[in-house]
Order: sequence, then structure tokens, then C-alpha cells
Amino acid sequence: MYNTKAYSAASAKSPLAHTQIKRRDPTERDVQIEILFCGICHSDLHLVRNEWSSIMPAVYPIVPGHEIVGRVTKVGPAVAKYKPGDLAAVGCLVDSDGTCPQCKARLEQFCPNLTLTFNSPDKHLGGVTYGGYSDSIVVDERFVLRVPSSLNLAGAAPLLCAGITTYSPMRHRGVTKGKKVGVVGLGGLGHMGVKFARAFGAHVVVFTTSPNKKEDALRLGGDEVVVSRNADEMKKHSGSFDFILDAVSAEHDINAYINLLAREGNLTLVGAPAKPLSVSAFSLIMGRRSLSGSNIGGIAETQEMLDFCGAHNITADVEVIPIQKVNEAYERLLKSDVKYRFSIDMASLKSE
Ligand SMILES: [Zn+2]
Ligand SMILES: [Zn+2]
Repeated sequence: MYNTKAYSAASAKSPLAHTQIKRRDPTERDVQIEILFCGICHSDLHLVRNEWSSIMPAVYPIVPGHEIVGRVTKVGPAVAKYKPGDLAAVGCLVDSDGTCPQCKARLEQFCPNLTLTFNSPDKHLGGVTYGGYSDSIVVDERFVLRVPSSLNLAGAAPLLCAGITTYSPMRHRGVTKGKKVGVVGLGGLGHMGVKFARAFGAHVVVFTTSPNKKEDALRLGGDEVVVSRNADEMKKHSGSFDFILDAVSAEHDINAYINLLAREGNLTLVGAPAKPLSVSAFSLIMGRRSLSGSNIGGIAETQEMLDFCGAHNITADVEVIPIQKVNEAYERLLKSDVKYRFSIDMASLKSE
């Protein structure tokens, strides 16, 4: 074991503060990574404040962060894919059983025995896993990803959660050239959804409640922008979408969007409103439409997504902050006051 610097919260009501945590020394198949950037995902905030206590109770102290990009510093003797000096990334998962049907289908994110990057039981050291708001991390090479060297690293970090969360359902639902795709909500997830839909060649319509996001929606790759509060604007698109990605985590009228789907159209939820959504059966029955959900992606697909981003020069739009501003960033995140993701420059942790 060795000590490394990190930022942790001591309770649901405590701010994140500097601390020391223990990491395991790399075993046979482990990769040790010096963390360069870590994105701030909304679920970091939910977990730190124990807002998902019924599904995933927080264990304190908690070190969040699952959008990790860094450089390999050490590898175990059996590691073949990485060597010191390589760029590497870690997303939401650091282990799974490798034997269940989900793992065999390369959908490790649904493995009943998966280990999340933070706040999951740690098989090696006991306690729980600690995430990316830290100097370094040690991860089994099966869960380490390659980062195209052409990408801006601060902007690449959010690809590990916001990126794969939006890439995977679009791939799964066959978003390609000639398809009409809607993206609801232009935040951390939504802005990546727009970029991917555009890169896949679809006709992209961005739905937003704020007219002042119009210009940005077009800049990010939208072909059209609809202010969702405007019933006339909504009506114009009735029954026309092949696919809609719903990235809204606040309460909203989902039927208004289901009604915009074409025959066989699908709406996939990637945002997670706390309260159950009310769905009109008629909206689904008429036109054999479907409603589904999606959660990140498997490791192979996450690598595919990173490679796709390398080939198309796609990264998140980020505001880079030092770790010392993380508590302030959480408050701003609650007000959607960021375009469109915070990325923590981990060099700032070295001075503490
Ligand atoms: Zn996330
Ligand atoms: Zn499994």
C-alpha cells in the first residue's frame, strides 16, 4: 500500500477537503495511473451528499470521480497492454466478475458483481473504492482504457461518463445518416449527445427550455433548436423522430416528447429524475413507440467511443478548475452554471 493525496467528504453535509488515502501497490494485472484530469459528474454530487441513499448509500469518507484521464506510472508483471508513460483513462467501473451473462455480452455495466470506481466495496483493501479526485489510482488493466493522444486531455475526461452515456444508446438504436434525432436538455450529457448525433450524420434537433442556449446548441452541432415551452414549435415536429435522447434529470413531461416520435421511434432516458415519470400508454401504443433507459456502456464500447472521438476530434466543452474550487463548482453545477462540464486539473492537488 502507499499513500496518495485526494479530496474527500467526511459526511453528507461536509465540503470536500484535502486528505490522504491508501491505494494498493499494483498487483500482477494492475495499472497505476497518475491522474491528470478528472471530470465532475452530477452523480459525484448526488453520492457525496447521499441523495441516492435508497439505491446507493454513501460510505464516508467518500472520494468521488469517475471521469479519469492520466498517465501510466507503473504496471504489474502480467500487464501487456500498457507501459509507463502511456496515456490511460478510467471510467465508472474498475472491476466485474467476468463470468455472468452481462460480462460475457461485454456489458459489464450491468454485472451484478461490478465494482464502481468509487463508493463500491473494495475487494483488495476492504472498505470502499476511492475515485478520481486524487493524485493516482490503481486499476486492473481490463478496466483501463487507451486515450487517443490527439485529444485535449481536460476535455477528454468527461468522455468516460458523459461521453459513453450518450454514445452507447445512439449506437444501440442505430443513429446514422438520414435519421432524425432529438436531444432533450443541453447540459453535461446533452451537449455530448448533440456532438455524437452530429458526428453519426443524423439530423439533430436540440430541445431546450432556455432560448439563450439556442446559439450554443447550433454551435455544438444542432441543425435545429426547439424551445420546448413553445407548444407551436413542438407541434411542428409531431410524429417525426427516429430517436430522442432524454438527458433531463429534473421533473418534466415525457409524453410531450414521446408524441414527437415517428412509428417505431424510441426515446431513451439517460437522465434520472428522482420522482417516477408519468407515461401515457396512448403515446406509446400509437405508432408502436418505445421508451427505454441506458446506463454508460461496456468497456469494449467505451474504448470504441474513445477511438471514435480520436478520429473525429470530439471532446467535452469544459471549464478547467483547480481542485480547490471543487465545492464552488458543485454549487454552480446545481444552477447549471457551467458550459458544459467541469474538469479538475489534478496538478493543483500536488501543491497541497
Ligand atoms: Zn458520471
Ligand atoms: Zn458479470
